[in-house]
Amino acid sequence: DLNPSMAEQAYRVYEKAAKDPRCILPKLISDLGLKSVLVLSTPEQVELGQRVVKLADSKAVGIYSRATMHTPKHITEEALATAKDKQADGIVSVGGGSTIGLGKAISIRTGLPHLAIPTTYAGSEMTPILGETENGRKVTRRDPKVLPTAVLYDVDLTLTLPARMTIHSGINAIAHAVEALYASNSNPIINLMAAEGIKATSEGLSALKKDANDSTARYNTLYGAWLCGLCLGAVDMALHHKLCHTLGGMFDLQHAETHVAILPHAIAYNASTTPEAMKSIAKALPESDGDAIRGINALYRRLDIDVTLKGLGMPEEGIANAADIATQNSYKNPSPLEKNALQELIRRAWAGEATL
Ligand code: NAD
Repeated sequence: DLNPSMAEQAYRVYEKAAKDPRCILPKLISDLGLKSVLVLSTPEQVELGQRVVKLADSKAVGIYSRATMHTPKHITEEALATAKDKQADGIVSVGGGSTIGLGKAISIRTGLPHLAIPTTYAGSEMTPILGETENGRKVTRRDPKVLPTAVLYDVDLTLTLPARMTIHSGINAIAHAVEALYASNSNPIINLMAAEGIKATSEGLSALKKDANDSTARYNTLYGAWLCGLCLGAVDMALHHKLCHTLGGMFDLQHAETHVAILPHAIAYNASTTPEAMKSIAKALPESDGDAIRGINALYRRLDIDVTLKGLGMPEEGIANAADIATQNSYKNPSPLEKNALQELIRRAWAGEATL
């Protein structure tokens, strides 16, 4: 659903920008036909947001810096009021999935063009998906109009991502590709992209574990995350994503970390019914000896991952309720969704126990 002439313009800007990187942002904004963009950031990245305002030159009308996780509707309403007040004709979101999510929420309600500048590996910029939270429930929709109008990747912006967040965000990316490999509507191209996404991201993360400032590894990880984000946007996700969204919305858990806690368990839950996907995952991960679960566990060991749902603040009493809600809405998953098995999956991820 992208406007081809906009895409052509973006390519032209990019070619010119290779000669003078400072001109990318203002040129891209004006080539998108915008004169008064509102820049979005989180409170933690307000300085970066202000840099973007400065770089956008006279084409930015201000910044809204209260973007927050899981796109709560009251924040969207506040940002919408700011956009209206400042008569913004476009949105520039600079940050992770939270900020890009807010850009999507504004864009779908107003029709304003949205330029996304991602700084994590979450991949939201590549998807037509928007998850919004109200009263502890996260509701997700897929609509081509949610896709940002243009995306600007700059590896340098990922260099400030703290070491632990880097790893957690990268695993979040890998989760998209894992579920794409067993999606009911997957296809051979997506399978290739997913396998390459897992390989590039896991190799990038292993190098970043040794040196978080390794710019080649940052490049490879962002490349992998881009592929994984494309997979997330192209095909249906299953148990892993549904569970993470349920848990995130119910207990306000950190997004990437929730994915980290659940992923090995979700892979194990679906392993027996998805042999081809498991082969691809195993092939993409070193030290797997042909076994996807062994491969993901080895990756977690290499990256020193020890995230549990308990550590993220989920109450133990919430486990049964979460399993209930996760089975209430029907969705396609390779293995049948059984409440007791799901409850055990969540309990293991909560306690930090090994996969079944
Ligand atoms: P985030 O955007 O919440 O960022 C986490 C924290 O890290 C924030 O404080 C942020 O300001 C900071 N940060 C981000 N990049 C940084 C950098 N380079 N340097 C220093 N600090 C940085 O985290 P996230 O995991 O990217 O996004 C999570 C949100 O995105 C959730 O709400 C999730 O549902 C959504 N999401 C949506 C999709 C989709 O397709 N719709 C995909 C993935 C994630």
